[in-house]
Amino acid sequence: MRIYKVGGAVRDRLLGKPVTDIDWVVVGATTEEMLAKGFRPVGADFPVFLHPKSGEEYALARTERKSGRGYGGFTFHASPEVTLEEDLIRRDLTINAMAEDDQQNLTDPYHGQRDLEARLLRHVSPAFAEDPLRVLRVARFAARYATLGFTVAPETLELMRQLSESNELEALTPERSWKEISRALMEDQPQVFVEVLRACGALKVLMPEVDALFGVPQPPAHHPEIDTGAHTLSVLQQAAIHKQPLTVRWACLLHDLGKGLTPEQEWPRHIAHEFKGLKLIKAVNERFKVPRDCQELALLVGEYHTHGHRAHELKPSTLLELLQSFDVFRRPQRFEEFIAACEMDARGRKGLEEKSYPQADYLRGAATAARNVAVQPLLEQGFKGPELGEAIKRERLKALKTHKEKA
Ligand code: ATP
Ligand code: MG
Repeated sequence: MRIYKVGGAVRDRLLGKPVTDIDWVVVGATTEEMLAKGFRPVGADFPVFLHPKSGEEYALARTERKSGRGYGGFTFHASPEVTLEEDLIRRDLTINAMAEDDQQNLTDPYHGQRDLEARLLRHVSPAFAEDPLRVLRVARFAARYATLGFTVAPETLELMRQLSESNELEALTPERSWKEISRALMEDQPQVFVEVLRACGALKVLMPEVDALFGVPQPPAHHPEIDTGAHTLSVLQQAAIHKQPLTVRWACLLHDLGKGLTPEQEWPRHIAHEFKGLKLIKAVNERFKVPRDCQELALLVGEYHTHGHRAHELKPSTLLELLQSFDVFRRPQRFEEFIAACEMDARGRKGLEEKSYPQADYLRGAATAARNVAVQPLLEQGFKGPELGEAIKRERLKALKTHKEKA
């Protein structure tokens, strides 16, 4: 048997990027031989194994044929006769279809190295169209390598467009889609992911609620960039620049969905868009079976981001309600993430990227002030039951009033 490094490990070494996980392909071996060497089989369908020591993935060279809709609709053929070239041709992009032996000799039948130099994300063969997930994968790689100057080759974008126009994307499972979306959001330029999906028409299929934001104007006084779609992309970009976690990035993407529902005659104002957007945020959350923490933050940021921006103007009672909506006394971290999302929203405006956001400290201070209200003295005064609750609330309101006066 011959063993080669493939895919991301080869690509990233040639790009001079750190290689984190290594995928291997094994040519000329049978399942029995792999098991005899102590490899552990991964799935029932795939001829993929884990190395007994390193835990890295070793796949038998295989060919694939599409036999139905979606990812389940593939038949694999793995045998010792399948060549390296035959295995590489089933891969998505030329830069992912290179292999390397232990002497670093490159096998590159589909000119991945040339495309690396040309900074092009190009599909290997027309079989690209057989798995719609590749549309998301290409958009994700575009987001990851945009900083290096990579773009999607026009003919690949065209294939992605055809895939998006057919109903193939609808066959993707929520789990597979979310895995790509969440990884893409954590890349350096997550906004490029959305841009590429939009450019090939996939955004309209996957997240029509986000697609609808493009072409919707906002008041230029607050939003010099005017376009709501452009604003959303900038907010996402700010979230990446400021190294925000996935929860915040997801919330950033969805925070203004309600603006896509505003009747044109009301433009550029968007009255109550925060509330109107909630059902859309919920729909997107459910479509991709998004993890609970991301779902919750997106909904809370959607509903309350304007409160965040107006923090200094809020009455103590409104401020307390805000803190309670976040369950801030038990979950301080989630309120921090809300503040971060609000700040990214403010910075995601053209020319205002560097403007300070004093609301952040004000909100943080409010949470601390309310949290610092001591319960013990109230107990000592004899409060209990509902009266204790009322007394705590009174004290918290007092603390928030003082906080507001000091600001
Ligand atoms: P990453 O750095 O994100 O791990 P990667 O290129 O290693 O990037 P993997 O998802 O680990 O991506 O897949 C390993 C390789 O398998 C890819 O480089 C590609 O050659 C191939 N591959 C993975 N998924 C697909 C797919 N859906 N269609 C075609 N080829 C794929
Ligand atoms: Mg990999």
